[in-house]
Amino acid sequence: MTKVPGIDQLLTNNRAWAAEVERTRPGFFAHLAEQQSPGYLWIGCADSRVPANEIVGMEPGELFVHRNVANLVNHADLNALSVLQFAVDVIKVKHIIVCGHYGCSGVRAALRDTRLGVAEHWIRPVRDVCEAHRHELDMLPTEAARVDRLCELNVMQQVRNVCRTPIVQDAWRRGQKLAIHSWVYGLGDGLVRPLGPTVAGLKSFDELGASYLMRGAF
Ligand SMILES: [Zn+2]
Repeated sequence: MTKVPGIDQLLTNNRAWAAEVERTRPGFFAHLAEQQSPGYLWIGCADSRVPANEIVGMEPGELFVHRNVANLVNHADLNALSVLQFAVDVIKVKHIIVCGHYGCSGVRAALRDTRLGVAEHWIRPVRDVCEAHRHELDMLPTEAARVDRLCELNVMQQVRNVCRTPIVQDAWRRGQKLAIHSWVYGLGDGLVRPLGPTVAGLKSFDELGASYLMRGAF
């Protein structure tokens, strides 16, 4: 097992990082402190192996990030909706990326119907996706394959949820440029796989239809 560094090490690392950034790009932090204008909102899993900025090579100030267990966007989640509204209405991001990852523990727990206490309520929406696609999932040969497919289906459902929020619907209605992307990340190779067509407006959302939830449709 990897040795966990003492907390002092993190502070030492931070001072070294800040000094290195300032050395290579003098004024970087002073400039960034004035305002943020990232072009992207990232909605991803809280898993420590899926660090948003590093995966896509983005620097501080370039990615607005929201993470939770199993990258969910529920219509009653004030936290996610507040992030979404701030990103769309105030920062005016051009892209929203919903990025799941294969081997997601939250998704696996939903598939196994594991008893988790309060966390069961959180992953209930994933269980609903699982039940809706039970037939397809049951045909896969291994549990790992079922988990990975459910990770994909879950991302697609969350993209639908994002698209259905009044925040995104209103942005599209007023002509704001806003594209929603569905991605899944491979823990084993560090690569992102786009899952489906980009949804860039009310028309393209309508056109998604049922095919969006079918494997091999894209
Ligand atoms: Zn996860």
